Amino acid sequence: EQKKYSFMLRLKSPAGEVTPELYKVVDDLCSEYGQNDLRATTRQCFQIHGILKGNLKTVISSIMNIGSSTVGACGDVVRNVGCTPAPFTAPAYAYAREYSKIFAELFKPQTTAFSEIWLGDDKAASVEYWKGDIEKWDVEKIRGHDNGHGVLVKNKVEPLYGDRYLPRKFKISITVPGDNSIDLYTNDIGLVVLTDKEGVLEGFNVMVGGGMGRTHNKEQSFPRAADHLGFVAKDDVFELMKCIVAAQRDHGNREVRMNARMKYLVHNLGIDGFRGLVEGYFGKPIEPWRPMQEWKYMDWMGWHEQGDGKLFLGVSVENGRIRNFENGPQLKTALRRIVDEYNLSMVMSPAQSVIFKDIRPEDKAGIESILAENQVAPVESFDPITRHAMACPALPLCGLAITEAERTLPELTRKLHGLLEGMGLGEEQIITRMTGCPNGCARPYMAELAFVGDGANSYQVWLGGSPVLTRTAYALKDKVKMPEMEAFLAPIFRMYKEERQEGEAFGDWTWRVGKEGLLAKLA
Ligand code: SF4
Repeated sequence: EQKKYSFMLRLKSPAGEVTPELYKVVDDLCSEYGQNDLRATTRQCFQIHGILKGNLKTVISSIMNIGSSTVGACGDVVRNVGCTPAPFTAPAYAYAREYSKIFAELFKPQTTAFSEIWLGDDKAASVEYWKGDIEKWDVEKIRGHDNGHGVLVKNKVEPLYGDRYLPRKFKISITVPGDNSIDLYTNDIGLVVLTDKEGVLEGFNVMVGGGMGRTHNKEQSFPRAADHLGFVAKDDVFELMKCIVAAQRDHGNREVRMNARMKYLVHNLGIDGFRGLVEGYFGKPIEPWRPMQEWKYMDWMGWHEQGDGKLFLGVSVENGRIRNFENGPQLKTALRRIVDEYNLSMVMSPAQSVIFKDIRPEDKAGIESILAENQVAPVESFDPITRHAMACPALPLCGLAITEAERTLPELTRKLHGLLEGMGLGEEQIITRMTGCPNGCARPYMAELAFVGDGANSYQVWLGGSPVLTRTAYALKDKVKMPEMEAFLAPIFRMYKEERQEGEAFGDWTWRVGKEGLLAKLA
């Protein structure tokens, strides 16, 4: 008898958008072929865990036949293009969504091999080029246009990727000034939409070289926050994006996979050297980064007016796991009922949650009662640590996991909140993240407080990330066992309470004190 291999499938949802039709299919597939739950990922798409090998073709073709896809959700290509999830109708937000979808089309692998393998003779529902809400796009032309500086690979199926694709996965996200709900600094390329006072698009601030993954005890691998590359006018943005991807394609490290992400190329050349490299492809200088308002971190949970008389509702999904919990929230049932009864589209959030959009004000009460009937608590009832916490799947679902994350973090965040409350710090919002290995899928190295698995039931503790997610933290201590975590953190919280300046966030205080300062205080 053949071994029962099981697989995880990850969908690709540009800008995190999921239609009601797609949600119903994915919800049905996870019940029939998966483990009866869905995972909302940190990159704004769904994962279905536990699909047996023999069912893969049925599941993939069902997804493709609804016009969605899994192509490029994994692999050494441009992955799902992220976007601020807030579905505001204001021009800057509309441009962010528009451009994230057009970038997804621009960098989509062109090979037909995937469809041939998974669909065979069946035809996919036409996965047509996305036509745009604001403008009409000729994606073929944008993809195929060559500026004469060697951006494209000649005579290949893949005009940009060539026959070797990229050295490593490549992440792009886009947002608007002030809204860092997307963790922009963790991307290979991060873009910020800049409009004039009337809301007309002028161009984009562009940052490069972010990335999370590292390996324990290998100093040559490290997390990195992106550097500011400069500004690009809207007419040049596709060319500049292709030039950056081409620079990584041609100069990224293909020898040592651990150092293959573009962050190492940016690090080794320095931002000025990297800018020079890209300008060689671009054929002209890149303009300086334009000043913007300060960043804030928002999770966009709860009710908001979206700007056109309609509402949106962020439903917080603890660690991204959409399921019916025994003696707890019937979250899977509640979300499906809302989709069935109100036919609402959702936007996946970069914090592993979902946002229903385009809600008529008169439907608010009905939606709230579906959530209440299914014991789904409003986000306002979450303690501030749990509300902003994220964990990766880790054990038992991820083959790379060293220890637990998703199954451990909820208990820990509640304990930490209790600890803070006992010190009179119950209102503190400390961005807390946990992963089961140093790969960093839940972006722990940007958090104010993070736990990175480094042994059985033990974690490296990271501190010093910014409350607006703009810098990487430092590892304070290795191999702290989970049962000792509260005792380890209690004196740090106490010192924070006593020594912080007015209004100083936990991450800013631990950053100001620094690793050596903190270790000295703890000694
Ligand atoms: Fe797996 Fe590590 Fe990613 Fe967690 S961080 S999902 S353990 S690879």
